[in-house]
Amino acid sequence: MLAVVVSVGSELLRGDIVDTNAAFLARGLSELGFEVRRVEQAGDDLEDLTALFRTLHDWADVIVSTGGLGPTQDDLTRDAIAAAIDEDLFLDQSLVADIEHRFAALRRPMPRSNLRQALRAPSAESIPNPNGTAPGWWVRHDSRIIAAMPGPPGEMQPMWRESVEPRLEAMQDSKRAAASFLTFGLGESTVEERLGGLIAWRPDVTVATYAKATGVEVHVTARAAGQSEAEKLVNEAAALLEERLGPALVGRGDVTLASVVGEALRRNGMSLATMESATGGEVANLITDVTGSSDYFRGGVVAYTREIKAALGVDPDIMDRFGVISGETAMAMARAARTLLGTDVGIGVSGIAGTDAVEGKMPGTCYLAVDVRGATHMAEVHRPGNRRTVKGFFALCALDALRRQLDVATRVSL
Ligand code: AMP
Ligand code: MG
Repeated sequence: MLAVVVSVGSELLRGDIVDTNAAFLARGLSELGFEVRRVEQAGDDLEDLTALFRTLHDWADVIVSTGGLGPTQDDLTRDAIAAAIDEDLFLDQSLVADIEHRFAALRRPMPRSNLRQALRAPSAESIPNPNGTAPGWWVRHDSRIIAAMPGPPGEMQPMWRESVEPRLEAMQDSKRAAASFLTFGLGESTVEERLGGLIAWRPDVTVATYAKATGVEVHVTARAAGQSEAEKLVNEAAALLEERLGPALVGRGDVTLASVVGEALRRNGMSLATMESATGGEVANLITDVTGSSDYFRGGVVAYTREIKAALGVDPDIMDRFGVISGETAMAMARAARTLLGTDVGIGVSGIAGTDAVEGKMPGTCYLAVDVRGATHMAEVHRPGNRRTVKGFFALCALDALRRQLDVATRVSL
């Protein structure tokens, strides 16, 4: 089946924002087995947009669009789709109620312009948007589909996963099973090398790697006549993945380093504290991104200067002898975090996020220490670059060091 992706918004054509939605949706549609024939961008112009939807609707089985569903006059996707299928918009009172309800929850009055978002064409079924005011549209017309979603990725992606993807999946003859896996500690090319023949294992299974800031992801998709056959294929691939990636495999599904570490701490009934320098609180930030982290995370301190480190229990002798940026100091910080907050586990991070050498250590050097009930382990990593990237990377490395130390048996979750 033929599919096309349409990104709406003059800001795209001006180059003000990057069209990440198109890439996300093109990949999603391809994984579903659609042949993506075009990826189009269009500005906020009613005539242009209407002509585009009309043309595409003539030949594509599925059009998936994002953007132009906002409340303002330049949000024209609703008007354009309605015009393209020769229908008139009407105000859907139940959508009005939904939008009013959302504003009430935000304790804000609803601007009248938001009523535009409650307009609907008779062939359009509205798709709920739990993350914003703009509902999506699922249009079935002339046995073809147009799915329109809002532009903000934080609204579009959940809507795709929860509503659009399952409906498009149901249109396929064969059944699909998919799983994603997170790895950390290996570059994408190394992951691909390790996977070797698995990438082209068999035609009904696709294995693809994606490098992200949070690690390299491996996506496995299988197609078969029946659902259980497809799932069996995915599980066979998962077993091969596990064998080849070993401890670099963080987990399967919607996991992050922080969630896997959290699960391991919870399982072991252990509490955690952090003492960070170079990462400026980023480790604590990642840990507290996980729902329920208060079950195991007691707190953390950013001990940025030598004096504060000393005041919080880091032995000044150690800092004098080995330097503030050193494995020994990081280990002393992990121990001090445990003592200070009375926890089973402590993390200590000391490194250089900036661009100048410190104490003869190169920029991008970081020492990460983990103390688990008195057993201290240390790792050294190097990643020069801009501060934001470097701090994020160091923080992930600290979580990964803890994950490996807790011996998170990823196999259990597979
Ligand atoms: P809209 O739904 O057209 O009002 O879009 C609202 C916002 O969503 C834009 O200002 C962008 O920040 C974001 N956005 C819209 N389209 C895209 C796209 N194709 N890729 C990434 N972000 C987008
Ligand atoms: Mg727009």
